[in-house]
Amino acid sequence: MVESLPALPDLGVPSVDAHAHLAMLEDPAAALVRASRAGIALVATVVDLTESPEATLGGLEGWMSAAGRYLEPEGLAVPEVRLIVGWHPHNASAGDDALFARLRELAADPRVGGFGELGLDFHYDHSPRDDQRAWFRRHLELAREVGLPVEIHLREAHDEGLALLREVGVPEAGCIIHCFTEGPELAERFLELGCHISFAGPVTFKKAEALREAARIVPLDRLLVETDCPFLAPHPYRGRPNEPAFAVLNAATVADVKGVAHAEVAAAALENARTLFGRRHVR
Ligand SMILES: [Zn+2]
Repeated sequence: MVESLPALPDLGVPSVDAHAHLAMLEDPAAALVRASRAGIALVATVVDLTESPEATLGGLEGWMSAAGRYLEPEGLAVPEVRLIVGWHPHNASAGDDALFARLRELAADPRVGGFGELGLDFHYDHSPRDDQRAWFRRHLELAREVGLPVEIHLREAHDEGLALLREVGVPEAGCIIHCFTEGPELAERFLELGCHISFAGPVTFKKAEALREAARIVPLDRLLVETDCPFLAPHPYRGRPNEPAFAVLNAATVADVKGVAHAEVAAAALENARTLFGRRHVR
């Protein structure tokens, strides 16, 4: 039996969780079951090559088939899962050439939809900033070379992140600013560069007026929704473990602030994710 969640909004059409950490969840298969029941058709999950990548690379098939056994009798499909591979700026100092070679190899794996999460985190500074900068640049260059999109993590480093993106160039296949937490001015600067903006649980938080203002101005064809689970569960579930099903709460909030139907945001986000993670843009 898979435990069910409290009632979630019915968006009317399938949607997406564009950034999850399935391997960090207590029961990834059960989370996929609940995601499907909530209308999530696609989950992009992060695989950090410096942590335990085999948990996902070796575990995914098992999660999918376990989820399928529950969902089939309900007439529901297991969400499609795409892998986002790379390493977090927190882990920049653990990166090396062997892992980079592995990343290049994984780019050819048909399950891989993009690289990430890469970027800069000057809030925690878990890795020296120069290591963060160096890998940000190399991951970005490789993404451009192999024709994959990137999911970018920026914390207290947006100006430098923008400058580096401008200098190296945004991958043609796409560039997603994951878990965007800033206001409309900064959103505008990323949009001008051609980036997509992805909204997670913080868009539902009480004090996040500036962030909701950003959601208001991001056009539907540049917008994604995600959970970043197990972190950042949306209101009213703040504090409990997050999971892909809760992406529908973020989509509903984004739709409400934009004053459009929930289905419109759900459909746009799914379509954008399929375009970004599902096709190759090799030059
Ligand atoms: Zn994340």
